[in-house]
Parts: sequence; structure tokens; C-alpha cells
Amino acid sequence: MSQNVPIIIGPDAVRHLVAFCQELPSQPITLVSDTNTYRALGERIKAALKQAGLPVISIVLEGEEVIADEKYLIQTMVQAPPVDQVFVAVGSGTITDITRYVSFRTRNPFISAPTAASVDGFVSTGAPLVVGGLKDTVKAQGPIGVFADLPTLMAAPPELRAAGFGDVIGKTTALADWRLGHLLWSEPHDAEIERRVRHAMASCFESTDDIANGSDQGLRHLMDALIETGLCMLAVGDSRPASGAEHHCSHYWEMELLKENKPAILHGAKVGYAAMLVAQVYDKVRALTQDDVRQLVENAPFRGHDGELADIRRIYGSGAGAIQKIQEPFLSLTEQEYRQLQGRIVENWPAIREIAETVLPASAVAELLEQVGAPTDWRTLGLEEHMIEPALLYGHYLRNRFTVIKLCRFLGIDTRPAP
Ligand SMILES: [Zn+2]
Repeated sequence: MSQNVPIIIGPDAVRHLVAFCQELPSQPITLVSDTNTYRALGERIKAALKQAGLPVISIVLEGEEVIADEKYLIQTMVQAPPVDQVFVAVGSGTITDITRYVSFRTRNPFISAPTAASVDGFVSTGAPLVVGGLKDTVKAQGPIGVFADLPTLMAAPPELRAAGFGDVIGKTTALADWRLGHLLWSEPHDAEIERRVRHAMASCFESTDDIANGSDQGLRHLMDALIETGLCMLAVGDSRPASGAEHHCSHYWEMELLKENKPAILHGAKVGYAAMLVAQVYDKVRALTQDDVRQLVENAPFRGHDGELADIRRIYGSGAGAIQKIQEPFLSLTEQEYRQLQGRIVENWPAIREIAETVLPASAVAELLEQVGAPTDWRTLGLEEHMIEPALLYGHYLRNRFTVIKLCRFLGIDTRPAP
């Protein structure tokens, strides 16, 4: 996706969408929605397109809980006509991911018509899909235009905008993790992108009250921030600027909920809560002096390839093979390399502390979440107590990224939340 696609957030987005479609080569327009988003916006878009004389096909996915899995992907693919067409995703995260993937695999473009400001994934090129019970992000495509109807965003259930806010607040830990990765794990970093994500986050925090109230200003700021972070991910080519340890916890919970047949939880709601727990870890890091760290390193054990692998097998079962592959760069560290990295952590402690200073204190994260009505405890969020600790201990295995959790592994610091 080019970064120059039209992005409209406003009260007349549907009119802009119709005008945009009129400029496209003549072909059917296939709307994809679920029963809720059809009622909220799909019906109106369909009528407006028809009135403009455009051929419209409408696919409404039914069911209690629509997820981007085999069932719904195939349903969409089968119901779409076997011709060239333009897809329009009318919905938030899941509908957009289903449409993003089906349009990509049928070599058609798609337009995003968000119905809620709930995630930062509208403009992304990857589609997180659940196939065979495993969640993975696969290559797909970005939209050729985003048309967000502000009144629809305002009318969406409040927990959706609270979740969008949670996805934004997750950037406080994600950006610090990114810098740690750059400093200690040779990951590329882009200061301008970091500045843009920080700016988006800050403008969102300034309008916390408006977001909580669901005002047009609040929704516009929130949607702006979500789209801007999406564009930053596009510019970098991966999710590094927007996703760190807090997202690893969220992915872990998502897989656990699937495994236990429990209802899914909004992505941003999990990310916001996890950001609070990861901010607690950063609170611990901030409190340590270089001397403390020197001592910690002396006592921190080297677990080695087999020790780590035993944990991965115990926690991830049949998924362990895939995770072992992802973690190879970490697992294959020799004791000497491991000790060298510990030495670099001690040496660079002033810089690491500075990075930790950029993270909001956990208490501030909790306060912001509360202000917008986002959950700050696992019960309200819908998790089970037994899922919390493993996410903070073993969630980091899910991606080959250096995060504060990995840092704590090298220091032998406990990353579990205080009871
Ligand atoms: Zn996210």
C-alpha cells in the first residue's frame, strides 16, 4: 500500500467513499460486514452506492462471534462473485482482516470503512488469521482508501473506543522496547518514526476526556492516532514501532483463550491491560542503579539452549517447534555470548535507564485506562488468573524481539506482577 491513499475521517465519509468508487473502473463493489456493522454502516453505504448507480453485492457474515478463521474466510470467498471487483470492509479489526486477506488472494483491491476506533490495523498489510487454532499474521495488503464515518465511530459501543485507546497506550512500552532492541539486539531503529508515534500517542492522551465521552473531537483524535501508528508500521515495514512486550502478552492470551474455548477479548483491551503490567516491569528497571545491575548479573543464571527449550515445550506444547525457530537467535547464544551481552547491559545501564524513563509509570497507565473505562484487572478484562503470570514470563518467546522482558531474563529479575 502506498502512503498516499485517501484517508477521510469525518461526518461525510460515505459521500467521499461513493465519489471515490465512481472514479474507479466499472466493476462490482462487494461489501463485507457482519450483522452489527451492516446495521451500523453497511446498509447506508449500500444504499448510497446503489443510488449512485454502482453495482453492489453485499456479504453479511452471521454468527455470535465472527473471527478471521477458515470458516469466515471461505464464506466470504464463496459468496463473492468470481469476477474482478472492489471489496469494501465495513467493520473494525476482524472484518477488515477477513476482507484484506480475501481481496488479496483474489487479486482485487479493498477499501476500508471502519465502524469503530478500536485497533491500529486498518492500514496494515498483514492479516492476523486463526488457522488450525493458531494465530499468525500473514501477508495480505493495505486498503486503497480509508473512509471513517465519524457519527458511526461515535455510535459504536464505548468498549470499542476504550480498546482503541488501549492499543495506543501500548505504544509507551512498545517504543521503549524498540529502543532496547536497537541498543542491545542490533535491531534497526528510526527516530523520526518514533517521534511520529509519540506525537500520535500524546495527542490521544490530551483528549482522554473527549474519548471517554465519545465526542466527535475525541473519536477524531483517537482514529487519527490509530491510523498514524498504522502508517508508521507501514513505513518501517513491520510492527516494531507499535508492538512490544505488551503485544506478546496479548498474543499469548489470545491463544490461551482459543485453546480453552473461551470468548475472545478485544485486542486493544488486552494490550492496554498488558501495557500496565509491562510498565510495572519498567518501574522495577528504573529503580535499579548500575551497581545493583552489576550484582544482579553476577547472580543471574545462564540457562542455555536446553533449559530455555524445556520451558518453551512445557508452555507451548505442539506449537513449540515453530517458536523454537523464531527464538533460534536467542536460544543459540553460547554462555560466552550470553555473558558478553550481560556485560553490555551493565555498561549501558545509564542509557537503559534513560529508555525506561520514557515509559509512563504503571500507575499513570492505570489511571489513563480508568479514565476511558478500559479494564485494569484481569477479571473485568475476561481473563483467567492462571493466564497472567505465564504471559509475562513466556510471552516473549512468541517473537524474536528484544523487550524489557528479555532484558529482565538477562538480569534474573522477576517479571511477574505484584499480587
Ligand atoms: Zn495492536
